[in-house]
Amino acid sequence: MKIFKSVLPLLIISIFTLYARQYYLQLPDSIMNALQYLPVLLIVFVSAVSLHFNQRRIFLYLIILSILYFILKYQVLDNSLSYNLFATLTPAVLFLTMYVKQQGVFTIRALPLYLLFVFTFLFSLWTIREVPTWAIYYLSNQWLPIQYFDWTQISQTSLAVLVSVFIGIIALLSIRQDHLTATGFGVFFIVLIGLQYLPNDQDLILLTISGLLLCLVNVLQESWRMAYLDELTQLPGRRAMREKLQSLVGLYTLVMVDIDFFKKFNDNYGHETGDDALRMIAAKLQKVTGGGLVYRYGGEEFTIVFTNKSVDQVKNYLETLRADIASSPFVVNRRTRNGKRLKDKSVEITVSIGTADSIGISTAEETLKKADKALYRAKKKGRNCIMD
Ligand code: GH3
Ligand code: MG
Ligand code: MG
Repeated sequence: MKIFKSVLPLLIISIFTLYARQYYLQLPDSIMNALQYLPVLLIVFVSAVSLHFNQRRIFLYLIILSILYFILKYQVLDNSLSYNLFATLTPAVLFLTMYVKQQGVFTIRALPLYLLFVFTFLFSLWTIREVPTWAIYYLSNQWLPIQYFDWTQISQTSLAVLVSVFIGIIALLSIRQDHLTATGFGVFFIVLIGLQYLPNDQDLILLTISGLLLCLVNVLQESWRMAYLDELTQLPGRRAMREKLQSLVGLYTLVMVDIDFFKKFNDNYGHETGDDALRMIAAKLQKVTGGGLVYRYGGEEFTIVFTNKSVDQVKNYLETLRADIASSPFVVNRRTRNGKRLKDKSVEITVSIGTADSIGISTAEETLKKADKALYRAKKKGRNCIMD
């Protein structure tokens, strides 16, 4: 389901592009002329937006799309060496860009990737100028019988790289299932189509625009994620919760969940292990049944919202949740100060839960306060329990 959601923009834009290709040749000349400038305008615009939102990977996708656009527009790849060099290096660099995690645009940790781009560019220029025999050999040699390859001008070496990158991207996509990887997949296809079909001017404009739109949608999605999702747990955060509370009417139940003795847990096992434990608890909470929506309220506190349900109607779901967390020990990988591994240790983590429903209360804020008071009573009662 998640993987479908992540490739959805790619599917929609692909269908839109195929549809547009049938009709755009009938557009009046004035519009066609104006369209010629759209790729460059969009490159500048989407780059500026991606830089503004610190989206390095999308920025690098844009560089690859721009290079592809200009190279095909000005037909720079006029011999088989430069063509196959581009067909080999571009997918490889794209894959590395996708593989390395996002770390902001202007950071030291991003530097190696930029250097890789510059190095690849200089290396390509040098190879095209010097035409070393080994490069011709490795890029253009026919390793397999040529009759199987008469459908493409891409060399066997470049095809091998393209197929490996394709498999690598599929693997990344199935592991990560995120929009960024799906966009990289789209960029890969655009490079592939560009290389295989060497599109004419109009098709190239359409191809480039679809890639740029894909990047733009991705920047917007990532900005939405940054605003609404909590980075550590990937649960919706405080802002999303506030909007939900504002929209609540009629019957609903609000639940406050707080991890027990979490300060002690951090003191014993370190803040990083604490973060891992928070992620685990968040994942458990997200499995809540009964239609509950889970938010990270802040720190080690979470809020669950049940619409159209009273406290009595959600107690069973919460009891299942509490028992599930209490009976799933967290495994701590311990190390001594000099890095030696100690035996793993199982630690029990429990949560206390306070609930309140909207019956007889006028606002969601007040209901939440009541749930918080109930949570306080659950703590006083000895923790690892539910109070209303
Ligand atoms: P109680 O059972 O009464 O809730 O005890 P407690 O120790 O859980 O409560 P307290 O509110 O005193 O401490 C909460 C602790 O949660 C303090 C802080 O170290 C930890 N904490 C809050 N946010 C994070 C986080 O993002 N990561 C980690 N590792 N710890 C966090
Ligand atoms: Mg707390
Ligand atoms: Mg606590």
